[in-house]
Amino acid sequence: MKLYSTNNRNLTVDFPEAVFNSMPQDKGLYMPQEIPAVPAEFIENIKDYTLPEIAFQVAASLLGDALPTADLKRIVEEAVNFDAPAVRLDKNTYVLELFHGPSLAFKDFGARFMSRIMAYFLKDGEEMLDVLVATSGDTGGAVALGFLGVPNTRVTILYPSGKVSPIQELQLCTNGQNIHAIEVDGTFDDCQHLVKQAFADQELQEKRRLTSANSINISRLIPQTFYYFYAYAQMQKQGKTEVVFSVPSGNFGNLAAGLLATKMGLPVKQFIAATNANDTVPRYLESGVYEARASVQTYANAMDVGAPSNWVRIMDIFNQDREAIRKLVSSCTYTDEETLAAIEAVYKRYQYVACPHTAIAWLALEEYTAKHEDEVFAGVFLSTAHPCKFPAIFPVEIAAAIEVPEQVQEMNLRVKQAVQMEADFEAFKTYLLNL
Ligand SMILES: *Cc1c(COP(=O)(O)O)cnc(C)c1O
Repeated sequence: MKLYSTNNRNLTVDFPEAVFNSMPQDKGLYMPQEIPAVPAEFIENIKDYTLPEIAFQVAASLLGDALPTADLKRIVEEAVNFDAPAVRLDKNTYVLELFHGPSLAFKDFGARFMSRIMAYFLKDGEEMLDVLVATSGDTGGAVALGFLGVPNTRVTILYPSGKVSPIQELQLCTNGQNIHAIEVDGTFDDCQHLVKQAFADQELQEKRRLTSANSINISRLIPQTFYYFYAYAQMQKQGKTEVVFSVPSGNFGNLAAGLLATKMGLPVKQFIAATNANDTVPRYLESGVYEARASVQTYANAMDVGAPSNWVRIMDIFNQDREAIRKLVSSCTYTDEETLAAIEAVYKRYQYVACPHTAIAWLALEEYTAKHEDEVFAGVFLSTAHPCKFPAIFPVEIAAAIEVPEQVQEMNLRVKQAVQMEADFEAFKTYLLNL
């Protein structure tokens, strides 16, 4: 398998290099040179396959000869060890629950696969991979739990003191084993700056095998294609083959994975890119002018992205052709008021509690369905996180209806373990050298 940079298709690297670099030198993003279609009979009979079987088939098609199939099979089975059910809400409306992994968010798919791929590709003599992550909340939890217990890896997470939610802090600080948390007396930007300094430090580079487990890493994108195929399989099982996916989007990795799946032969009628007030992509698709903006804070804060990093991948998939994108991808944007009203409407209509990100995807699907009344299709909106992660957003009655998963209740009983640190690079460096 070869990958090129979206800034220069002639610059190609092997899969392990793309995995450890995250980003090419020219600041493009890595994309697979070949996107082979899965066998047609696989799609025709996909309803008969389990999620791990589908994941393996898709990964094997895409990764080709990058690693032996037996190793890939083991990695996929370890990474995708939780379900992604499409729960039926009414005749043709389904919510694809992607939050049954350890951090209760869809980022578990990417993080669990990436961690195992990285551990696998460590070279002989490289005994320990040090993953450094600065987080303002959700990403850190998924990465920490993704690497938890993975041999030959060690994660150090820096988070800003007092600026992450209680559940997020528990997910960062109660793991033990190979996961270390540093509570920085400062902001998220301070945390990110410390990580950047570490990567630029020569002594650390010599003495440690550092990696960033960045969210734009190609090994996080690939496993996100799995659940689109699996969702389609669940629809096929119910005799439905016209499928519309509504995707709550921030950095647009999730949507990029869905579009990659269609390139591999998954038949999808339409995608809907649903955003909060951070509407760079809907504005672009409407006007043809791409103008990134500073992000604004919303209830769906994991989607508060003004300059979505994965958008260049989507442009690349469509050869920079906006009209081609518009044929397959509709888009819309919603305010916080509309998000809250959607949470209430979903609860009232289905007795279902949707997290703010999920509610935006539902709203977008509703709007699309109303505009396409004469068409028959299964509408699947993606639920990217469990609602218990955002307790402050919900009206009291709805909050009371949230079923808190056992793993969260169990986490509450554990002791928080974090090293307190000033935003000081020398202190951070000493810490890393003494690990
Ligand atoms: C990261 C995240 C998103 C946005 O996904 P992208 O791939 O960045 O578009 C949506 N919802 C939740 C809960 C997230 O954590």
